[in-house]
Amino acid sequence: MQEIVGRFAPTPSGRLHMGNLLCALLAFLSARSRHGRFLLRVEDLDRPRCTPELTEKCIRDLQFLGLEWDGGILFQSRRTPVYEAVLHRLIQTGNTYPCFCTRARLRSMLAPNLGDTQVVYPGFCRNLTETEREKLAMIRTPSIRLRVPDTVISLEDRLQGSFSENLLHACGDFVLRRSDGLFSYQLAVVVDDAESGVTEVVRGRDILSATPRQIYLARLLGYPPLHYVHIPLLMDPGGRRLSKHEHDMSLDGFRERYSREEILGILGCAARLLDRPEPVSLDDLIRVFSWDRIPPDMLTLSYPSSISTT
Ligand SMILES: [Zn+2]
Repeated sequence: MQEIVGRFAPTPSGRLHMGNLLCALLAFLSARSRHGRFLLRVEDLDRPRCTPELTEKCIRDLQFLGLEWDGGILFQSRRTPVYEAVLHRLIQTGNTYPCFCTRARLRSMLAPNLGDTQVVYPGFCRNLTETEREKLAMIRTPSIRLRVPDTVISLEDRLQGSFSENLLHACGDFVLRRSDGLFSYQLAVVVDDAESGVTEVVRGRDILSATPRQIYLARLLGYPPLHYVHIPLLMDPGGRRLSKHEHDMSLDGFRERYSREEILGILGCAARLLDRPEPVSLDDLIRVFSWDRIPPDMLTLSYPSSISTT
């Protein structure tokens, strides 16, 4: 049987909130309950939003919960040469093209479908001639886009079931490297998961719609397929989305009120692994963990004002 290699890959542009920590916990439990490995990757490409201080806090939050990872931490900010090499391969094989569209131009296309969550790039720069490219390149640095095919990409998610998308209609050719040189999330994630030997991706459901793009890119690069689990968003007791900027929903906020075991119990209960938010150890959670218990649609955080240990 294939060894499970799970991972947690936070973006330290703010503090981790309880929803991020629940995701980390479930990725950890999924791997450890099947004697798999668990890796930590810091997605800190977006400097200066991801500061060393926030990165440090994020690592300490995971340590506080006892979510130990195997091996060293992979920092995306240190992997630019690796992404360069992969991008170069894709350019050589004719899968990409330079896009000279300005933000203003892309925004103007949005007008008719305001409210859409995803911009469909209509391929303005797809078929420019070499001469046109040379001329435009004198005016501005292009971003690099990946050509996508007019075919449906499907996946089977452990919680969300089947999900399919025609990339050409859903997003169009997408950016691999921005004009300012920043590598896209899609490229970095696909390369890092493959190179780290990850087999299972556990993350928030808000990223499900980006998954077909990542699958397509991984196939182009000859990487093995991954198992996906997109977990529902965690709502606060009032039914609101958690934010990175609320102290109350950060681990610090919880640590002022609860012990580590109580916090694990609150998270375990939110994931329906426990019937009530009683204090537990990680080993207790590993024993009761099963994806079958976790609902696909919504998770709600509930916590008592004080936890009874009886
Ligand atoms: Zn363009």
